[in-house]
Amino acid sequence: MTDTLHIIGGGMAGAEAAWQAANMGVPVVIHEMRPKVKTFAHRTGNLGEMVCSNSFRSDDDESNAVGLLHWEMRTAGGIIISSADQHALPAGSALAVDRDPFSETVTKRLLDHPLITLDSNEITELPMDGNWIIATGPLTSSALGQSIAAHTGADALAFFDAIAPIVYAESINMDTCWMQSRYDKGDTDEERKAYLNCPMDKQQYEAFIDALLAADKTEFHEGETAGYFDGCLPIEVMAERGRETLRFGPMKPVGLTNPHRPDDKPYAVVQLRRDNALGTLYNIVGFQTKMKHGAQTEVFRMIPGLENASFARLGGIHRNTFINSPTLLDHQLRLKSRPNIRFAGQITGVEGYVESAAMGLLAGRMAAGEILGRLVETPPLDTAMGALVNHITGGAAAKTFQPMNVNFGLFQPIDAKHGRKNRKTRYKAYTDRAKAAWQEWLDAQKPTA
Ligand SMILES: Cc1cc2nc3c(=O)[nH]c(=O)nc-3n(C[C@H](O)[C@H](O)[C@H](O)COP(=O)(O)OP(=O)(O)OC[C@H]3O[C@@H](n4cnc5c(N)ncnc54)[C@H](O)[C@@H]3O)c2cc1C
Repeated sequence: MTDTLHIIGGGMAGAEAAWQAANMGVPVVIHEMRPKVKTFAHRTGNLGEMVCSNSFRSDDDESNAVGLLHWEMRTAGGIIISSADQHALPAGSALAVDRDPFSETVTKRLLDHPLITLDSNEITELPMDGNWIIATGPLTSSALGQSIAAHTGADALAFFDAIAPIVYAESINMDTCWMQSRYDKGDTDEERKAYLNCPMDKQQYEAFIDALLAADKTEFHEGETAGYFDGCLPIEVMAERGRETLRFGPMKPVGLTNPHRPDDKPYAVVQLRRDNALGTLYNIVGFQTKMKHGAQTEVFRMIPGLENASFARLGGIHRNTFINSPTLLDHQLRLKSRPNIRFAGQITGVEGYVESAAMGLLAGRMAAGEILGRLVETPPLDTAMGALVNHITGGAAAKTFQPMNVNFGLFQPIDAKHGRKNRKTRYKAYTDRAKAAWQEWLDAQKPTA
């Protein structure tokens, strides 16, 4: 008799993991606490409920990384993407869905599957034995959250994200910026040049503070109330505390010399730090924010050197339970300290419905493969799935790890000669390369006769 796979959480990731594993022939129990135990964001007891927007974002699989993830999930027979296709609404190049029929369809298809059963109870402890996937999402119940923290160490589990914007390295103007750590600290040349610096004069700083104060901000959702930690105040809140606060905080201009204008002392400096091992992404240090996305792009492009910045992701602060995957998980999404447990979905530090479902798809296949005694390899780095799983399980800097959307900055760079003007051609090259690699990965899993 084949071992059973237990999945905690029947949201985007749990639903997808269950579907994939059951289709490989493994019996699955989904433990979903709703509707008995509610969260502040879910409204129904349906599996695969969308908690907020009804959009799976871009469906363009030729020049958009999310669209590519859609394509990879479609070709892998994903339940989330195929149910979304079934209930798609007109939305231009985006994939928006009729949310209630969508989640009703996901629920029905899962419960109709002969190998899937539903247990409508909250799981309050990190399981000891058996095969498990934890896919309890950003609103993981507090009992289970505490049990995870007790096992992994409280520092390895966060209850809020505090996301600073991330910029594509190629879009930063290095004629204005320079690489240098404050006071040239560090033992190696790499450490002494770990930060990318954007200088501001007084006028630029004052205009920047005015823009921060005037920008539109988002509010916390009802029930999501957060006290800010002093270590991660939104920059606009810091600016509200006094016009000079940022100049004495993350924007202090000390210990730095601008090689482009060595005689000019900057009035303030914005620092960016490498965000991935590939060096394609940089985060703006200390710039977590609750400004609306439109306002963020406008305000951050006022920073000298970032006038033409492209953002891999914008900042935010939300209620969000997630683990420090780069230190806790292996490339198979297994908890290193208890490999019978995998994590999937937003709790692994990916962000969004699509990314969460994608990590569910991988975890479900990998767990089922292990039960069946055939290894399901981690997908190649060139695929969207592979780039994302590589980022959360090792590519990202563990110390500053914050949730991430899929984006081309996570991919191994492709022929830079195309340049910015030919971005579309370059993205097409990324997606062509990814599709071929993904197809090969899928084919390798077909059982041999
Ligand atoms: C308020 C809010 C708004 C959001 N808006 C968007 C948005 O607009 N677009 C977007 O792409 N993403 C959004 N997100 C992120 C979104 O939650 C994820 O993208 C996605 O739902 C995560 O999928 P998941 O499967 O990891 O978690 P979920 O879909 O949340 O599923 C987790 C499931 O686990 C269950 N569960 C939790 N603890 C237990 C337990 N101990 N035992 C049993 N069951 C348990 C929960 O009831 C839930 O059904 C939002 C998140 C929040 C909190």
